Amino acid sequence: MKKYIISTIALLSAFFVNAQEFKDLASLAPSYGYEMQKDYFLYSTNEEHAPADNIYSKFAEWQNKWVNPYKIAIKDLPDSLVVDCSDYYHPVDGDVTSQYGPRWGRFHHGIDLRLNIGDPVHAAFGGKVRVIDYDRYGYGYFIVIRHDNGLETLYGHLSKIQVVPNQTVLAGDVIGLGGNTGRSTGPHLHFEFRYLGNSINPTNIVDFNCHVPYNDTYLVCKAKSFNELKNYTAPKYHIVRSGETLSSIARKYHTTVDKLCRLNNLKKNSVLRVKQKLRYS
Ligand SMILES: [Zn+2]
Repeated sequence: MKKYIISTIALLSAFFVNAQEFKDLASLAPSYGYEMQKDYFLYSTNEEHAPADNIYSKFAEWQNKWVNPYKIAIKDLPDSLVVDCSDYYHPVDGDVTSQYGPRWGRFHHGIDLRLNIGDPVHAAFGGKVRVIDYDRYGYGYFIVIRHDNGLETLYGHLSKIQVVPNQTVLAGDVIGLGGNTGRSTGPHLHFEFRYLGNSINPTNIVDFNCHVPYNDTYLVCKAKSFNELKNYTAPKYHIVRSGETLSSIARKYHTTVDKLCRLNNLKKNSVLRVKQKLRYS
């Protein structure tokens, strides 16, 4: 018996069906099972090959649900990896509208590229589609591809997805159409590079003026490639001064009293001591 998954965009539910039942299910979905406007899609979970499996399988099995199922701290990553960038294809031609890094009190894990709704979006490298999903408050319609070179890339805010999970793609293949879905204030592509779940600044790898990688290879290096992310996630402290309160400190760092309480194991009415060390991030 073959194993299949039927899945809704909002609610993923897995079960097993036989070939005839699968045929019946598949006939529900036009053009073999997949149309993003529908609230279901079908795909085989038969796996021949997960790209870069030698790197990834130690941390999590190949799966189609989470952007980062690996949950590896930067300090626990393998020291380095030479990534082959020679087949790189720039996903869309538009200008950079927002850079990777801290932004509005959050961390922006990708780079934003201008496009018009409906513009084709291309796979950056060859590999296999790992995740397609919809995140109303974040990525909108998005795709994650695991590449043979060891990286994963993510494409967000799409208007239409034109691949299915576990589909093999070549660099340059059209995987979807640009859009403005999810947490987005205008049509653009949100484009991420990740290694074992941790994001890398795309401008470390690709020259976004020329739309090509700086080199045919990129060295992912635990000590250097994740510095911006590491600095952002490192705990940050404030030394309490006379007259300060939890709410004045929360305001100063654009955070909330609740978060300060959580980080420091305090109650809202806790009395602060002068020179007390308070974690605020
Ligand atoms: Zn973005």
